[in-house]
Amino acid sequence: MSRETTYNFAAGPAVLPEEALKTAAAEMLDFNGSGMSVMEMSHRSAIYQSIFDETKANLKKALAVPDTHEVLFLQGGASAQFSMVPLNLMGENGTADYVITGNFSGIACKEARKFGTVNVAADTSDCNHTRIPKQEELKLTPDARYFHYCANNTVFGTEWHYVPDVGDVPLVADMSSDILTQPVDISRYGIIYAGAQKNMAPAGVTVVIIRKELAGHELPFTPLIMSYKTMIDKDSMYNTPPCYTIYMLGLVLKWLEKQGGIAAMSELRKERSGLLYDYLDNSRLFHGCAEKDARSYMNVTFTTGDKEKDTEFCKAATAAGFLNVKGHRLVGGMRASVYNAQPMKAVQALVDFMKEYEAKNG
Ligand SMILES: *Cc1c(COP(=O)(O)O)cnc(C)c1O
Repeated sequence: MSRETTYNFAAGPAVLPEEALKTAAAEMLDFNGSGMSVMEMSHRSAIYQSIFDETKANLKKALAVPDTHEVLFLQGGASAQFSMVPLNLMGENGTADYVITGNFSGIACKEARKFGTVNVAADTSDCNHTRIPKQEELKLTPDARYFHYCANNTVFGTEWHYVPDVGDVPLVADMSSDILTQPVDISRYGIIYAGAQKNMAPAGVTVVIIRKELAGHELPFTPLIMSYKTMIDKDSMYNTPPCYTIYMLGLVLKWLEKQGGIAAMSELRKERSGLLYDYLDNSRLFHGCAEKDARSYMNVTFTTGDKEKDTEFCKAATAAGFLNVKGHRLVGGMRASVYNAQPMKAVQALVDFMKEYEAKNG
């Protein structure tokens, strides 16, 4: 196997833009005449600070982050945010609203219960998370400290195609698997967080975009490193940040800008996933798992409806160079993750392969 003969459909860590990888390789031993690798630099050095500042500025620009909000580069993945959000936003005797639309939002909800009262505003477990609740279904707590939802459900292949209206309650979104894929009105959000390894960079950095006024009200026992206030005051350098991953994010953002930015990504996501969904809707062997109006642009989940046939297909796909198409163990079936960096030709090749496979095995 080689990079040239394979396509990687992993859900995360996932495929990265080849241009970013090549630049990283070229700069590996000596970054920009510094005499050292970015991996070897002091995070307090002027040269590293310039990488950090440029990456942060480019992320703010790409997402049009207003001055009311701060961008943080943290560690611990999206999973650390499952604790950090309630620690900082729940307050004493607080209630928070959570929507359970999949695996990660369920874990986030469970974690929040340790720190306050949780109201489940909606839960799609009854249909194994094949749909997204409608606005009218959301049972909102009038004085909730915040409302939490997961914008794209990586495991189940569903995505919110509207921003929930929760009045003045701070809106908190896990955007780990769809950040940088569509324009977002950041001003509507209290907090957006995202682990990097789906759409931004290798694993190791977690991006948090927070409305500044929400910081500084953490529960008294909040560890220093889990306080948004600490991290805002120290510009994410309270401790050593994930320096190299931030640099990689910078390379990905430069690539993104050259492709036409988020506007271009927003169109491409429809083309990529559309190729797969169109085929699935006409296939007699495979069908999509998610309800049509809830389909994710990023994670296309599908199945033959038969466990053994699914296993056979995954085996054949892997042998043909289509890697990581096996679905998450909670769902079974197959999943093709088609993030920003997934080349259209990879998606086309997968669809062609599936068509051929169906002709032989359908
Ligand atoms: C991958 C993922 C997570 C978990 O991220 P970690 O970085 O492993 O903590 C959480 N939420 C969503 C939506 C994800 O896709």
